[in-house]
Amino acid sequence: MKEKEEDLFGEKIRVFVCPKCRNELLLLKEAIRVQEKIIPRVETTRKLVKFGHSIAVTLPRELHTVFKKGEEVRVSFDPHEMELTVRKK
Ligand SMILES: [Zn+2]
Repeated sequence: MKEKEEDLFGEKIRVFVCPKCRNELLLLKEAIRVQEKIIPRVETTRKLVKFGHSIAVTLPRELHTVFKKGEEVRVSFDPHEMELTVRKK
């Protein structure tokens, strides 16, 4: 296998080329890393839900690979814009 580095959707990724059949192979781990980076911007409307004694927002399915259950996130609120932001640490 010959290894080369390529640009895939703006992300560097290693590509392994078979010298016989010229097939190109990617490592699953690296393909997933690129896929996670190329998830499109998400803007959607959600209904606030009650979760125990808290009010919660559910995340759209496209973000389930980005934000995982149990992961710690930073939550901030801008009262001027009335904007709630959830940021990955
Ligand atoms: Zn081959």
